[in-house]
Amino acid sequence: MTDAFIGLGSNLADPTSQLARAMTELATLPDTTLVAQSAFYSSRPVGPQDQPDFVNGAAWLRTSLGALELLDHLQTIEHRHGRERTQHWGPRTLDLDLLVFGDATIDTERLTVPHPELPNRDFALQPLLDLKADLTLPDGQTIVHLRQQCPDNNLRLLPPIPREPFPPG
Ligand code: ATP
Ligand code: CA
Ligand code: CA
Repeated sequence: MTDAFIGLGSNLADPTSQLARAMTELATLPDTTLVAQSAFYSSRPVGPQDQPDFVNGAAWLRTSLGALELLDHLQTIEHRHGRERTQHWGPRTLDLDLLVFGDATIDTERLTVPHPELPNRDFALQPLLDLKADLTLPDGQTIVHLRQQCPDNNLRLLPPIPREPFPPG
């Protein structure tokens, strides 16, 4: 079994519920359990600034899937959420990044793990800290240290949301 950490982001079509739904979908992946989900944050977009702020969070999964199999599932979920790839770092309904996959270091055309932008992104590092304060990367760097060095994206903690949608009525 591998502990995998997924970064979630959305800035279109009710971002908070996009993330809440995605957490449920991650929890029901085959051969995978959702260990914990982080709080949600809002953050200023990276790249083009003429787009809404993002909602971000992270999921801690325990899985016997391989890294590429997991990436396939992440992309299937993105697709289900109507994700369209147009502008680089542009607005999106759902982005699922594989941030950390156990102690694996992967550098292929389809997959780079740990995610190469992680050290620059407080909106990914802070949710990881919430999930596992002693998390370290395969090269030994601690998430705590990376968080201290990271540029500020105007990260703001959002109020807690219920795990499942409220029943109708
Ligand atoms: P960024 O990767 O800087 O966060 P992005 O999330 O906007 O940018 P996408 O358009 O979602 O980028 O993904 C482009 C490609 O990145 C995907 O098709 C995927 O094959 C590849 N990729 C490489 N490493 C990873 C990873 N760790 N997690 C998710 N996708 C990855
Ligand atoms: Ca991303
Ligand atoms: Ca992505």
